[in-house]
Amino acid sequence: SQANLNNFIIKIIDRDIASGLHKSVRTRFPPEPNGYLHIGHAKSICLNFGIAEHYQGQCYLRFDDTNPVKEHTEFIESMKNDILWLGFHWSGEIHYSSDYFDQLYSYAIELIHKGLAYVDHLSVNQIRDYRGTLTKPGKNSPYRDRSIDTNIALFDKMRRGEFKEGSTCLRAKIDMTSPFIVMRDPVLYRIKYVDHHRTGNKWCIYPMYDFAHSICDAIEGITHSLCTLEFQDNRRLYDWVLNNISLNVYPHQYEFSRLNIEHTIISKRKLHLLVSKNVVTGWDDPRMPTIAGLRRRGYTAASILEFCRRIGITKQDNNVEISALEACIREDLNESAPRVMAVINPIKVIINNYPVGYKENIMMPNHPNKPEFGQRKVTFSREIYIDCTDFRENNCNQQYKRLILGQQVRLRYAYVIEAERVEKNEQGNITIIHCSYYKNSLNQTLDDSYKVKGVIHWVSAIDYIAAEFRFYDKLFSDHNLASTDDFNVSLNHRSLIIYHGVIETSFLPLLKSGKINYFQFEREGYFCTDSKDCSKLQPVFNRIVGLRNNWLA
Ligand code: ATP
Ligand code: MG
Ligand code: MG
Repeated sequence: SQANLNNFIIKIIDRDIASGLHKSVRTRFPPEPNGYLHIGHAKSICLNFGIAEHYQGQCYLRFDDTNPVKEHTEFIESMKNDILWLGFHWSGEIHYSSDYFDQLYSYAIELIHKGLAYVDHLSVNQIRDYRGTLTKPGKNSPYRDRSIDTNIALFDKMRRGEFKEGSTCLRAKIDMTSPFIVMRDPVLYRIKYVDHHRTGNKWCIYPMYDFAHSICDAIEGITHSLCTLEFQDNRRLYDWVLNNISLNVYPHQYEFSRLNIEHTIISKRKLHLLVSKNVVTGWDDPRMPTIAGLRRRGYTAASILEFCRRIGITKQDNNVEISALEACIREDLNESAPRVMAVINPIKVIINNYPVGYKENIMMPNHPNKPEFGQRKVTFSREIYIDCTDFRENNCNQQYKRLILGQQVRLRYAYVIEAERVEKNEQGNITIIHCSYYKNSLNQTLDDSYKVKGVIHWVSAIDYIAAEFRFYDKLFSDHNLASTDDFNVSLNHRSLIIYHGVIETSFLPLLKSGKINYFQFEREGYFCTDSKDCSKLQPVFNRIVGLRNNWLA
């Protein structure tokens, strides 16, 4: 799918190129490796990599690894994999913010030399109290006005590990009364006695996001630094840092709205809680809005790109409906997924006037309007399975166009049958439906003597594979979770329902070849084999999405 290039950022870049400010464009995608990428990141990936493609510029992948406490190489590997899976390629080598720790440190010293940064000994809580609020100006730290030489010496002590974690930090000296709270002497460096995945124990001081991000962008020659709207105020600090160091490169930050999706949370921090509290089975649980979860659920890369194209890039915060994402995969798979019959809640049908011990092969198209998908043979026999929801003893609902006692229904691509009687167990549940079939109805247009209600799918009871079907629902019943932290209150305890059913054997060669993982199970929806749990002996399918939008209810 083509990138959606009708947005305000493209207009800005066009302007910058027309004015000669930039000859070429360089963007970056800068995830912090503290979790797995999610659908919100896909929006940012499509934007940053899409711009680079459009202008034949470059897009770097930079791991923003300035907080060693939360970062792991597992996350780095998964992020690389997910970006490639989406079909994007970063320019050149992978970059890491930690590549620039030496330079960042020397720019911090430059700020101290200019009297623009100082070592502070207030505690984290004191710093917060001194900072004030939107309605209350902050007040200066008592350590704010020590000499430059003292600060140089103290910062060196910090680096050498002579202070306790949390006891001392380096702050920018800006304005404790600024209307922008980020400008009230923000912390630039803090102490952490934690090994870093790349620099080991070389450092015990680590730079803060705003300080590191602006300088990394400038060092890398990023022209347009794109981030989400919550960083709008931080742009002042971004510019302040670059205006006060001698790097003399001035990338511009532009902000666009975050993606939020109804009934889910999109934040690595919160998704991490779902994983660590075992609400889900992992980062790639098919209910997760992570790229890995969506992939395992059966979303194709093309469907995710199409979704990002449709939502576009704006400055309006919004909460997109899940159905918008579902529509994209449904449209993709309607074109590309072969059709197969699977019965999710099987109940046995015996066709009493069909010859005992006999079976036949019925040819069926693999796609209703794409002959190039070919045909397959499906076994028909005296005993078959249909879905128990496709049968009713009595019916008073005119909308019900399936099998009813005493009435007729068409078996998909096969015969018309009529239900004659049922067998029940001691609990009164139906165990067998006895039917008769119309021998001449196979694939025929029917004359007026038939009163066929509708068409249902079926699977032969002598030629089938038992399979597990996993149906997923939203993780949360609340539709707006963007500002929620206590999501326990709204957890949907029926977000996974497992069914044990049957599927026609024609699907077995496809499963063995491993070539096709996506199917439309006729009348049920789109499914894919589960990449972790599906085996040749015990097929496991994830329902990606139903055939129609079922979220209206
Ligand atoms: P999270 O809360 O999920 O950790 P983040 O912004 O801290 O989000 P980063 O790893 O720092 O995550 O994000 C990398 C890039 O992806 C940033 O430029 C960020 O703005 C962008 N991004 C993250 N979440 C979203 C989202 N929901 N919608 C659009 N862009 C996003
Ligand atoms: Mg971040
Ligand atoms: Mg984050």
